[in-house]
Amino acid sequence: MDRLWTDFVNSDYHDWRGGDRSEDRLGKANWQQEFLDRWQLQASVPASPEDELLMRNFRNDLLALGARLSSGASLTDEEKQWLNGVMEAGHVKRTLTTIDQGLKLQLIAVEAHWQQVMAEVAADFATTLVEGEGGRIRICDNSDCRWMFYDDTRSRTQKYCDDKMCGNLMKVRRFRAKRKTQN
Ligand SMILES: [Zn+2]
Repeated sequence: MDRLWTDFVNSDYHDWRGGDRSEDRLGKANWQQEFLDRWQLQASVPASPEDELLMRNFRNDLLALGARLSSGASLTDEEKQWLNGVMEAGHVKRTLTTIDQGLKLQLIAVEAHWQQVMAEVAADFATTLVEGEGGRIRICDNSDCRWMFYDDTRSRTQKYCDDKMCGNLMKVRRFRAKRKTQN
């Protein structure tokens, strides 16, 4: 399942079938709008060139951090400060709402700009580390894909972002490679 932060970092799309459809979607207005709609966030579309640059740097740093934690490393003080700095730019208000007959205390984003969006992404990443563990962050084993995801399987053995897509593709590739060596 996509999380806010994985959806954000995977805006750097790689064609998982190995074709030439790879593209950095971050700067595309339609990606920006769909991303905001999916996560019920608000900012102006298209993002200004300054915001786009900030977001790209933030995304690349977050990808690098995710990759580091996925190998079992723990969060350094410097990285913690960096995340705190990004989160500081987004203000939230507390709201009590009713969801499915239960009460929920929510933190609602106050401002409608991309720095608020980045703060939400950073907060979602931080929540993953608080409620889960960095060692469960994975990069899809299909080298064409490299999608970042969170492995929440009990066995902690999820190798591909999606078993039906990358998992099957790699199975077919292994089968073909094996047949080739047999001929
Ligand atoms: Zn994949």
